[in-house]
Amino acid sequence: MNSDDFRQWSRHAADWGVEYRSSLRERPVRPLVEPGDIFRSIEASPPEAAEPMERIFADFEDKIVPGMTHWQHPRFFAYFPANAAPVSVVAEYLVSAMAAQCMLWQTSPAATELETRIVDWMRQALGLPEGFSGVIQDSASSATLAAVLTMRERALDWQGNKQGLAGQRRPRIYSSDQVHTSIDRAIWVSGIGEDNLVRIPVTGRFRAMDTVALEAAIAADREAGMLPAGIIASVGGTSTGGTDDVAAVAAVARRHGLYLHVDAAWAGSAMICPEFRHFWAGAELADSIVFNPHKWLGAQFDCSMQFIRQPEDLVRTLAIKPEFLKTHGRDGIINYSEWSVPLGRRFRALKLWFLLRAHGLEALRSMIRNHVAWSEGLAARLANEPDFEIVTEPMLSLFSFRHKATGDADDHNLRLVNAINDDGRLYLTQTRVDGRVAIRFQVGQFETTAEDVDTAFTVICDCARSLKG
Ligand code: PLP
Repeated sequence: MNSDDFRQWSRHAADWGVEYRSSLRERPVRPLVEPGDIFRSIEASPPEAAEPMERIFADFEDKIVPGMTHWQHPRFFAYFPANAAPVSVVAEYLVSAMAAQCMLWQTSPAATELETRIVDWMRQALGLPEGFSGVIQDSASSATLAAVLTMRERALDWQGNKQGLAGQRRPRIYSSDQVHTSIDRAIWVSGIGEDNLVRIPVTGRFRAMDTVALEAAIAADREAGMLPAGIIASVGGTSTGGTDDVAAVAAVARRHGLYLHVDAAWAGSAMICPEFRHFWAGAELADSIVFNPHKWLGAQFDCSMQFIRQPEDLVRTLAIKPEFLKTHGRDGIINYSEWSVPLGRRFRALKLWFLLRAHGLEALRSMIRNHVAWSEGLAARLANEPDFEIVTEPMLSLFSFRHKATGDADDHNLRLVNAINDDGRLYLTQTRVDGRVAIRFQVGQFETTAEDVDTAFTVICDCARSLKG
């Protein structure tokens, strides 16, 4: 591709993106395709000869776009949001154009130093005290893996990487069953093994870890010769927003000298609003916290921020310095690849810098406040309907509900989710609460309006009644 073509197709792609975003409300949120449709539409073998961009782009429009789920759709109420504000898309375009590897300070000084600054901007925006450093990882899963590896190494006096886990005392990690499955994966991948992830029972509306049971489990493990290593607390769990009392958990961690990691991947964005910070009171006592600006805040995926109290421990766990990665004669610099599992790194801070400047914190706060208010409003409306029940009350902008059925309620509610999604105007997902199916609803998309949430009410009620009738 020569420079003229590069310019032309870059502009074409940018124009396409603008049209795409402005047409989303008219599209079904989920594609109307069957498994295998797209695979079959793509040529089975790679081309030997170059093809014209016109044809490639036309195939993108004809074959790919109709098979996409539209995560930026204003009526995307499934999972958690993956907001990519237009300004972060622009920043990502610049990052793609420069295509730098940001593994060492030397390989991209501006990327490294902007990252350091932006992490500190976010620390202030979330109301965390000075004393936290941080890094932008690709995903919360990677951040949690890095935290679990650090827990393991600290507990094993830094011998795990060297000697492996055979013959060592068994490191034990504690969490409730409300945490995301990325915690289970981190436990598997770190070699700790799922038998050593101790599930603490939960109590109360927010399904918080019972800290008396937590303390008892730690004491019992010590007694049995095991090695308590760390605790993972949840703020805004994926299923229904399960949230631990972080201050109480932190007190237990302190008393037992354990590492505390807080997973606030989704809910962390809401902490830019001071009135929601009570949900993670005590987070300032954690050893690390992860939150994903790529979820609710509007930074294009991927962008997961990990705050760390003692980065030396993380670096001691993960840094590896072959000669080709040494940056001789440069003291006091940060090489962020030593803070994460992958070596190569994207330039992720730029989109946050653009986003925070172009929107300002106050506009982002208003958006999050609206989402929470609209979600609470919808929960209240459904609660007033005779044939609906609220299963879990709103935690920020996430709640779950069920449609009352005479027969098999699980089957009925699964059919309801499918009926709603097949309608095309909304996209919702289900979960299980105490073993029974419940329908999740979260408001979090940048373009969502109060009218979109009204539409959600109408579609949910219509689909439920037509299923019953
Ligand atoms: N933690 C929570 C609470 C989540 O909801 C998710 C994903 O939805 C994750 C962790 C994993 O996030 P990531 O996809 O960035 O690994």
